[in-house]
Amino acid sequence: MKSVALGAVTRIAPMFIGAARRSRLATLIYHRVVPEQDPLRPGEPTVAEFEWQMRLLRRHFTPLPLGEAVQRLAAGDLPPRAVCVTFDDGYADNAELALPVLQRHGIPATVFVSTGFLNGGRMWNDTVIEAVRRESSGVLDLSPIGLTELTLGSEAERLAAIEQILRTIKYETPRRRIEAVAELVGDDGALPQDLMMTDDQVRKLHAAGIEVGAHTVNHPILASISDEDARREIASSRDYLQSLLQSEVLSFAYPNGKPEHDYRQTHRDVCAELGFSRGVSTHWGAGIAASDPLQLPRFTPWDKTETRFALRLLLSYRNADPLVADS
Ligand SMILES: [Zn+2]
Repeated sequence: MKSVALGAVTRIAPMFIGAARRSRLATLIYHRVVPEQDPLRPGEPTVAEFEWQMRLLRRHFTPLPLGEAVQRLAAGDLPPRAVCVTFDDGYADNAELALPVLQRHGIPATVFVSTGFLNGGRMWNDTVIEAVRRESSGVLDLSPIGLTELTLGSEAERLAAIEQILRTIKYETPRRRIEAVAELVGDDGALPQDLMMTDDQVRKLHAAGIEVGAHTVNHPILASISDEDARREIASSRDYLQSLLQSEVLSFAYPNGKPEHDYRQTHRDVCAELGFSRGVSTHWGAGIAASDPLQLPRFTPWDKTETRFALRLLLSYRNADPLVADS
């Protein structure tokens, strides 16, 4: 029944979506693939979900490497239902859990790595999530970051606490963010140190034909730091990866990625000066021929069934890159 509905959606929906199918590029954004559903990371697909998503892309869409897709997008030469798969941040599960699935279905992908967290580091948001997960006292004193005390009974309460903390400190400067997290969790040596890739895992992805892109060193919101620091963050992450892989790094993903909000035109221009060929943001939409190759939109359907996932992805081709469409 499910496959009948999926078949109908992928056959019939494109007729209504019409011309939008051609010469438009959908770029999916992932972060992690988790072994099983994690109530504190409800947005992350499990391996089983990622498996059907990649199978669906292989059967009903045209997965392309990002470099090829960007060239063909500009040339007006994209196949129908062109799609790219990308991962941000550099989680170890990309190499351990996602890679075998990508290989099984022959799906090209780009993994954007924040190099400062490789080899045992942890992103501040993960520190918050893992600390709240392990907090056994049932209450969390948030006065260090100007919030009240929260009760941590149910998983729903823990998730709400996580969302509130992340929202409150996301746009602090990197230094203040680290301080705030340290005040909240202390120096908890029990938190996991294997969430992000090691150098070897990055090499393993590269050797398997997965493109490795840069994503800054410390994952700052570029718009919240000085131009000088932003340039160093962008260039140093690229240099580290190039030296690790002995290979050119040509793709960049802006941390958080909302144009104007998280990064500005100046950061895009720095990427151009440094020689990047393509950049991806997080504004929603499909790439069109006029899209800036250094600021491609991305979008990921969130649906938990194949039919709805396919339909939402098909519909996403209708939304032309707003950075170009608005201008
Ligand atoms: Zn990121």
